[in-house]
Amino acid sequence: MLNGLRVLAQLVRGRRKLYQYYTNVTWRTCERCLDWHGRIRARPERFPDVGDGCPRHLLSFPVRQLGDYRAKSREMAEVVRRERQRRIWVREAEEILESDSERALQLLQEAGCVDVYIPEVERLAARHRALLRSDRELCARLREVLLESWHEKFALPRYERLPERMREEHEQGGARYLEELLGR
Ligand SMILES: [Zn+2]
Repeated sequence: MLNGLRVLAQLVRGRRKLYQYYTNVTWRTCERCLDWHGRIRARPERFPDVGDGCPRHLLSFPVRQLGDYRAKSREMAEVVRRERQRRIWVREAEEILESDSERALQLLQEAGCVDVYIPEVERLAARHRALLRSDRELCARLREVLLESWHEKFALPRYERLPERMREEHEQGGARYLEELLGR
């Protein structure tokens, strides 16, 4: 009912179409684009045109579907919330890898349930290169945690859209690289 009223309110203002903002939520999406992800506006010019390198797509939809798009918007906000939490976990793990490696591995595991990105693993490996060379056991456990997250990443629905062979190549190529990076 509430959605019905919302639709009506748009229609009486002469609006037939509305717009939803999409970015691609990854490790490098900026804070501002994360804020806008999923938001709905009546006119395209009501969205910022940031041109900062983050993907930006405005999807138009008929006013009568506002209820569905508001539901989508809530799901998108949840994706953003999880990505922000993931970044906090990864940063903290990077900070404490040497002083509290158990906790760091746990945080990376949690972060990996959301997603894992190779450039962030590169950053972690570069920062802790000496530690990972001297502590082979820690290095092996780190590799195990990250590889597990990496393989899980390809079981996520969004990767199912990739053709099977491409998906496999991407997955295996990334796994080989992670093994190299973390010194197998
Ligand atoms: Zn941005």
